[in-house]
Amino acid sequence: MKTGLFFGSFNPVHLGHLIVANYMVEYTDIDELWFIVSPHNPLKNTKNLLDEYERLDMLKLAIAGNDKLAVNDIEFSLPRPSYSIDTLNYLETKFPENEWALVMGTDTVKTLPKWKNYEQLISGYKVYAYSRPGFMLDEKDIFPNLHWFKDVPLVEVSATFIRHAIEKGKSIKYLVPDKVIEKINADGLYHKK
Ligand code: ATP
Repeated sequence: MKTGLFFGSFNPVHLGHLIVANYMVEYTDIDELWFIVSPHNPLKNTKNLLDEYERLDMLKLAIAGNDKLAVNDIEFSLPRPSYSIDTLNYLETKFPENEWALVMGTDTVKTLPKWKNYEQLISGYKVYAYSRPGFMLDEKDIFPNLHWFKDVPLVEVSATFIRHAIEKGKSIKYLVPDKVIEKINADGLYHKK
């Protein structure tokens, strides 16, 4: 079983994430994809970061009914901030039969040298990259375990854009699945207090 791992804050999940996830399970040799919710990404600031269980619940609503996609809260019980290599080491011991592929945009590929135990990470794991506008990979970004999928359809929306839209009272329809919008509205998430 080859499992794709898509790390992120998902604050909140949006169609940009979901389109990539679906591509990976439909068009590559990945059998299933897990969204790994990072309680705190060490490269991001925690201001405006919604509680991790709320973010996890939104993801569950977003992928309901798709048995190739799953959400995973493994990082909630690991020391914080969470570093991918520690999460991977833990997953290796828990699921020794699995093969792993890290799914990430070319923007994130470019940050890999800043990640904890970068060398171990890129030598031990496959990275399945998709293109993000403005982030072309060049020779120094490429390594043998990198597979670059250049035809992944993209929607250039960010969680930041969505949070700002909600604060301003704008509709986020078509950017976030309807079930997630219902939860955001019902619980008053991201609305200005
Ligand atoms: P924020 O705006 O809060 O920084 P984000 O929308 O970039 O959030 P993350 O949770 O940081 O979302 O994203 C998780 C992963 O998804 C990251 O690897 C990020 O590069 C990628 N990603 C973010 N937005 C998109 C998008 N529109 N299309 C494809 N990938 C995306």
